[in-house]
Amino acid sequence: MAVGETSGGPRAWFECFRGCSGRWPLTEVIYRCPQCGGLLTVQHDMERLRERTPEEWKKRFQEREHTTNWPYGSGVWGKREMVCPVVDDDNIVSMYEGNTNLFWAKRLGGQLGLEDLWIKLCGNTHTGSFKDLGMTVLVSVVNQMRKDGQEVPAVACASTGDTSAALAAYAAYAGIPAIVLLPKDKVSIAQLVQPIANGAITLALETDFDGCMEIVAAIAEKDGIYLANSMNSLRVEGQKTVGMEIVEQFDWQVPEWIVIPGGNLGNVSALGKGLLDFYELGIIDRLPRIACAQAERANPLYRSYLTHFESLEPIHALPTLASAIQIGNPVSIEKAVATLKRFDGVVEEATEQELADAVARADRTGLFNCPHTGVALAVLEKLVARGVIRKQERVVVISTAHGLKFTGFKARYHQRQLEGIQSALANPEIVVKASYEKVRDEIFRQIDARFR
Ligand SMILES: *Cc1c(COP(=O)(O)O)cnc(C)c1O
Ligand SMILES: [Zn+2]
Repeated sequence: MAVGETSGGPRAWFECFRGCSGRWPLTEVIYRCPQCGGLLTVQHDMERLRERTPEEWKKRFQEREHTTNWPYGSGVWGKREMVCPVVDDDNIVSMYEGNTNLFWAKRLGGQLGLEDLWIKLCGNTHTGSFKDLGMTVLVSVVNQMRKDGQEVPAVACASTGDTSAALAAYAAYAGIPAIVLLPKDKVSIAQLVQPIANGAITLALETDFDGCMEIVAAIAEKDGIYLANSMNSLRVEGQKTVGMEIVEQFDWQVPEWIVIPGGNLGNVSALGKGLLDFYELGIIDRLPRIACAQAERANPLYRSYLTHFESLEPIHALPTLASAIQIGNPVSIEKAVATLKRFDGVVEEATEQELADAVARADRTGLFNCPHTGVALAVLEKLVARGVIRKQERVVVISTAHGLKFTGFKARYHQRQLEGIQSALANPEIVVKASYEKVRDEIFRQIDARFR
């Protein structure tokens, strides 16, 4: 059979993102174009996907959702034909990821002057971040390769905490050895304990993410260990379902704006790719605008945006509370730039103070945000204030991880212990004597102070 063939069904293959010639099967160990060294992308056989009408696709997706009919209950595998058509049912490694809820942020939207604000809670998933969406695809393909007799001794990644958690969990589910390289003392306890609990070989290195990435790339290249970072475009195929889900959740209506935090920039590229696939297949008839949000201390894309994307320079990323996006040399920057150009995108940055306050403000309306979502929310506030995003427009903010992974950051904000941060919205616990009168007096003192 030809590359990417699955007898009669949909087909997909790797090709160069920059357009060099050549096609490679999704089960081949290849991460970069042999001609130009650029990233690869997964290309689907769109002609074959067009054999079904948009209406047929929509019906098919909706029928599959939340069923136990393996593997279609997964938000990712429910769109299998457009994601990864080369893995057998038995080899799919899924925890029924995806299908995360949209939180209707009525109160927060009201405070920001927006009438139609929604938060896509991608952290409501097995390992607590959107990284599950990509990892189910990557680990499934590796599982297929191993079952087909290919030599893949282990999977490995460098991580700012969430990629490693997802890789460790999916690899453990499939019984595949996993190795994770983490920057020492730069991930939260919750993030560190996840790969440890799931049995991954967990290595803490005295460097930052970019330093870990360099080493794991060398190990993948020289020692035959399969690379699970988002340089591997299989991850992008799973993650691209986030945009597909959003439009499906709005009954195939496209919001005006999607705001998403960016670090290594795989996720913003994935968001764009899924929406473009739907657009090309006629499932949606227009595209949203995309705003990519960066931390001011790790902002190579923002700097590039200021030059109209004419220069793309890596920087040395400084420590930020948004630790999962402390990346100075984002591997997917070219893909992200292409996405932003296609989606009439903007890039904006948020300071440490702005992101911390945005988290606290949104939490007061019932959310429980991670600092990266805080970056997106702070950027949203700025874009609204500047009139770029308008009052009546429908806006979806991608929340990338669950706040419970970042309780240290959140607790320290409320205890006023974050260095250099004014905790204007702190709400620390009040220690009270265990006596009826003292408790009653304190309650009424607080109600008076806060609500009168
Ligand atoms: C990975 C991650 C990001 C950034 O995604 P990229 O694809 O690296 O841009 C944002 N937030 C959280 C919580 C993450 O884990
Ligand atoms: Zn190329």
